[in-house]
Parts: sequence; structure tokens; C-alpha cells
Amino acid sequence: MADVKPNLIGGQWQAGEHASANINPSDTDDVIGHYATATTDDVEAAIAAASAAAHDWARSGIQVRHDILRTASDEIMARREDIGRLLSREEGKTLAEGIGETVRAAQIFNFFAGETLRLAGEKLPSVRAGVDVEITREPVGVVGIITPWNFPVAIPAWKIAPAICYANPVVFKPAELVPGCAWAIVDILHRAGMPAGTINLVNGPGSVVGQAMLDDARVKAVTFTGSQATGERVAQASVRHMRKFQLEMGGKNPLVVLDDADLDVAVDCAVQGAFFSTGQRCTASSRLVVTEGIHSRFVEACVSKIRELNVGDALDSRTQIGPVVDEVQLQQDLDYVEIGRREGATLRAGGERLAREKNGYYMQPALFTDTHNDMRINTEEVFGPVASVIRVRDYEEALHVANDTTFGLSSGICTQSLKHATHFKRNAQAGMVMVNLPTAGVDYHVPFGGAKGSSYGPREQGRYAAEFHTTVKTAYTSA
Ligand code: NAD
Repeated sequence: MADVKPNLIGGQWQAGEHASANINPSDTDDVIGHYATATTDDVEAAIAAASAAAHDWARSGIQVRHDILRTASDEIMARREDIGRLLSREEGKTLAEGIGETVRAAQIFNFFAGETLRLAGEKLPSVRAGVDVEITREPVGVVGIITPWNFPVAIPAWKIAPAICYANPVVFKPAELVPGCAWAIVDILHRAGMPAGTINLVNGPGSVVGQAMLDDARVKAVTFTGSQATGERVAQASVRHMRKFQLEMGGKNPLVVLDDADLDVAVDCAVQGAFFSTGQRCTASSRLVVTEGIHSRFVEACVSKIRELNVGDALDSRTQIGPVVDEVQLQQDLDYVEIGRREGATLRAGGERLAREKNGYYMQPALFTDTHNDMRINTEEVFGPVASVIRVRDYEEALHVANDTTFGLSSGICTQSLKHATHFKRNAQAGMVMVNLPTAGVDYHVPFGGAKGSSYGPREQGRYAAEFHTTVKTAYTSA
């Protein structure tokens, strides 16, 4: 077999016994590379190496960790074109989106390089005379990182960078569909000077490699992003070991459009939020909750914009919407279009598989109207370019519908009313609220996460990442 990209275990690249092919969803004849599949023994060895490295890594000093993070950031930024191209080639988002995500990863590493130098504790007087109290943050220990395929550079970055910042050794299991980006990041970190055992890469199926990680008591904390079903498994296995865990899961994010919205802004927010990155974003606006007075103008404008969208090869500069990530996900998206039709919704645009010059997983973004919030297309996460319009009477009904979901990741409103925007910010049941902005698209220096069934545990990103990646110690001294 051609060149196999190995796993990194205890500071050594290890090819293992098996490898799997990485296929381009824009062109299924294009094999990007072969990546080694880790065995349960490999996972065991990676966790053993991480555990052995934990003591010295915790004492490595902030300058060392700062320099590694900064070096990684610089290299990712310098190579944004080639890493962005790899990302687009293996996941299918457009080249502009791939490069943008790579730049975001560089910014995240840079942010946590700075955070390393800002680690602080507190010194307080005790309520007892002659006693001092110190509060410090300590590393949590070996962190298991399990990531999805849809942000194959940014999500690993926002989990790995704080782990390094707060001196935790990492065992990283990326999604099966995107081993290339994972390999590139780990290679950069390895060369940036991560000591042996502090960064380990184990590629392979979740049910084998991920499960082996969850079943090992030496993994002291697990940070997971993916589906609710897998999140539940992570939670159950983690409770069994009384370990810390953090879950970021799905969404069914509403974008409310009120009569007084700027129509162009609302349509841009809807089309961008629902369909860009092929709708494969946990923060995608899959429910467009629209009041009566603007409903038909909004729908007409959305439909004409959707028809103009250029769906094609992710690497073609004219493409606005890349392919769906693989055949399984495409079939799921098409099945939901059929489910929507059977439920009585009107398919106003798209929804069909598209043929292109190269054989790939292309689909025209789909917009349903005449939908109710209790239809399956409005209660279950499709995770593709499928959105529905739900018509409502007024703001009060819109807020009720927006909140009437088991998810709670991101919630948006388009309005020019300060009163409604303010009320919505206070009452939307979501971890992130957007006013006159798409539900997708966030900053990297502030917390990211959801409410209800979308998230569990401490927030990710920004300074809030310290909550998950550290343990607080309170020390008393009698002087
Ligand atoms: P998934 O749950 O199928 O897989 C996620 C990861 O879990 C993969 O690495 C997979 O191999 C691993 N895994 C699967 N079974 C496992 C097991 N038994 N033990 C341990 N690990 C296991 O999700 P996906 O299809 O890769 O990603 C799509 C989902 O991710 C969507 O639901 C989406 O909303 C969600 N997502 C959420 C966020 C967020 O921040 N909230 C961001 C991106 C994606």
C-alpha cells in the first residue's frame, strides 16, 4: 500500500496493522491518503504514555507551553492555504471556508499561548487569625479528546490548545472521515516540541478506539463533540469512572424573523446560517420562524437566493456550497426531505441529489414551507442543507416556537426593535443568542456552548476553558 500516515503514540509515529483510505467527497476517485487505524492495544499504549508524561508535563513551566502553542499557531497560519485545501478536500466545505477555519485554529492556539502566561491564583486571608489561604488551578490529568468531522481543524484546536495551556497530556481521537487534518495538527504540535507522551493521536472507529479510551480509568477527563447518541455513551462511561466530562452535541437552531426585520439582512442570515458549510454545522439555522407580515416576501427572497447558489467541487473557486461529507450523510439528508414531504410540508426549493462532472455527494439546498414545529424535520437534527419555515402570528408565538425544542445551542432573531431584541436575548433558551446575525459564526475568545440537550458540563473556548481543563485546589497555611 502507498504511504500510510501513522498514529503518534508516546512520541513515536506508529503505522500499526491496518489503514483506511481517506476519500474526497467532491470526487470519490480522489484518494487523499491512507491513515493507520489504532488497535485497542495502541489506545492502551497511548494512555499509558500520557499517564507517564503527566507528572513532568504539569511542571514543564509556562514559557515552554507558551512557546509550543505559539510555534504551532505560527505554522498553522503560515500554512493556511495548504491545510485549508486539505480540509476542503477531505470534508467538503469550500476552500474559502477551509482556509477560514484554519486561520481560526491558528488564532485559537495563539489565544491559549497568551493564556498560558496569564495563569493566576488567589491569595486570601483566612477567617482564622494567622492562617493564609491560596487558591490555585492544577492540571486535571490525561484528557481524552473525541471530535466530529464537520470542523476537523477548529474543534481539535479548541480542545487541544487549552489542554496544553493548562498542562494536561492529550490522547486525541478524531472522526474517521477526517484523519488528514487531525494528522496535520498533531504533526505540527509534535515538531513544535511537545514532549513524548503529551500528545497522542489514535485514529480509528469510535466504537473501538473511542470506546477503549472511555473504558480506561487513567483518562481523567473527556471532552467530546458529536451527536447526542454518542454523547450519552461518553456520559455513562465517564460517570462510571467518576471522571470529568464535557459534551457539545447537536442543535435545531431557530432564526426568528419579525415583520420589522431588514429583509436583506434576514435573508442573508437565513441562507448563510442554514446552508453554508453545506448545513453541516451544529449551529445551523434549521428552523426559520417567520411572522405573518414578512412571511411571503421572506420566502420568495430565500427561494430565489437558494436557486442561485452554486453547488459544486469544494476546491472550485466558484463554489458556494460544497458536497455533503459522505454517502451515509447524503442519504440521511435525502431521507429527511422525503419525511418532510410525507409530513405535508411544501418543498419550495432544492432537496435533490445533483450530478456534477466528478462523482461526489452533491445536493441542492432544500427549503420547506408550511411546516409545524412538531414535524420530524423540525424536531430532529438533519445535519445537512435542509431548512424549514415555520409561520407564526407574532413575536410571542415566535419566541414560544423558538424555545419549543429539546436542543438549545444557538438562537437568533432578525428585528429592528430594541424591545424585542432585548426580550429575546433574555428569554431565548440557548447558550448563544444572535441579533441580526446568523445563528452560526462565533468568536474564539468567548465561551461556546449550549443549553438543554445540546451541551453538558463547562463551556469551551476563551477563559472559560479553564473550568474543564483544571482542578481547583485550596491550600491553608498557618504562619
Ligand atoms: P458522532 O457522534 O457520530 O461522532 C463523534 C465522534 O465520536 C467521532 O470521533 C466518533 O468516532 C466518536 N464515537 C462514536 N462512537 C463512539 C463510542 N462508542 N465511544 C467513543 N467515541 C465514539 O458525530 P459526528 O457524526 O462525527 O458529528 C456530527 C454531530 O456533531 C452532530 O450531531 C453535530 O450537531 C455535532 N456537533 C456539535 C458541535 C457543538 O459544538 N455543539 C459542533 C460540531 C458538531
